[in-house]
Amino acid sequence: MRDLVIIGGGAAGQAAAMYALGKDLDFLLICDHLGGRIERPAAVEKDYLVGSILVHYDGPDPEDEERALIGSSAVHLFEDLLRSHQEFMLEDRVKAVRREGDTFLVETQRSGPITTASVIVATGVTPRRDLRLNGSAGLLADLGHSTTQHAAALVGKRVVVVGDTLQALYSVAEFAATALQVYLVLPTEAAADRAEVRLLQQRPNIAILPGYQVIDVAAEGGTRVLVVRRGDEVSRLVADVAFADLGYEPASAVVRDLGVVGPGGFVQVDRDGATRVPGLFAAGDVTRPEGEQVLTAIGDGARAARCAHFYLLTRTMRGSGQSVGMSWGAEQDG
Ligand SMILES: Cc1cc2nc3c(=O)[nH]c(=O)nc-3n(C[C@H](O)[C@H](O)[C@H](O)COP(=O)(O)OP(=O)(O)OC[C@H]3O[C@@H](n4cnc5c(N)ncnc54)[C@H](O)[C@@H]3O)c2cc1C
Repeated sequence: MRDLVIIGGGAAGQAAAMYALGKDLDFLLICDHLGGRIERPAAVEKDYLVGSILVHYDGPDPEDEERALIGSSAVHLFEDLLRSHQEFMLEDRVKAVRREGDTFLVETQRSGPITTASVIVATGVTPRRDLRLNGSAGLLADLGHSTTQHAAALVGKRVVVVGDTLQALYSVAEFAATALQVYLVLPTEAAADRAEVRLLQQRPNIAILPGYQVIDVAAEGGTRVLVVRRGDEVSRLVADVAFADLGYEPASAVVRDLGVVGPGGFVQVDRDGATRVPGLFAAGDVTRPEGEQVLTAIGDGARAARCAHFYLLTRTMRGSGQSVGMSWGAEQDG
């Protein structure tokens, strides 16, 4: 039996693996794609920043590039090390995680079941794309988490943001600091009552369109033209850039039957990454509806692994066969 199985090879999963390596745990990192989101072609750009380390990045100045910590480089540091420890890596897809007494059975697509004392789920998210429109949805860029980077490039430009997620609203606030005009298209009327939207309304260069649906998007020269509709009212928005942020679809199906998945499908964890099931932890985007960054995913992964390590120590001290909480001290007090 393994000490720990980590599901997911993105920033969170790899950071957890680094922690597990350091603690000499007998762990296995299972993923169908080492590198996670940051390796996917659309996201591999030289100015893909880690958090806000390069807030003032303003173009292909070699000096700036030297100071930049590129997201993929940060995770590649981990990846290179992990690749030299193939005994801890399994390229496969997890179908489900089941609880069996005080252990877990991780069912994989090609390698059969794997028994482990603890599990960290770091399976990430997929951006939602459920706009029904004419034209190419590809003309709307994913807002993702790179707002700061985008804002720096939007000086004096016109921007459209479609969506009412917290990420969308905060991005509008960031864009408004540099852009000439920002249009916020809210798919529901109700979103207009949110405190953040009321604050945005006070900015002169933000126009809010509540209850509008995007029905068409086209590229005209260097601009984007969005046709939006509310009832019989149809408007045309012309902008230099258009983003959509409709939230995320968390890849939490593997633990759906364990009672740890909350609203929107995100895995519910405490501040240490522990779920309500002893020995089951989660980290990174799959736990965070509001959207995160590479740096925070790395922190999440390391913290969840630390917590898993404490769990394993507690389990060993008490002997297996008992369901134990993550905090040894608290359990003893109780
Ligand atoms: C459009 C966009 C732009 C972004 N821009 C930035 C940016 O500029 N700067 C920044 O810091 N962050 C950015 N981010 C956010 C950043 O990419 C994520 O926060 C980070 O990658 C999350 O890491 P993660 O490990 O939680 O998930 P992921 O990186 O998504 O990794 C998930 C892993 O789980 C694996 N997996 C999933 N399901 C299974 C399964 N059933 N079995 C086995 N493996 C599985 C996947 O293959 C993958 O390895 C952006 C995100 C988006 C969507």
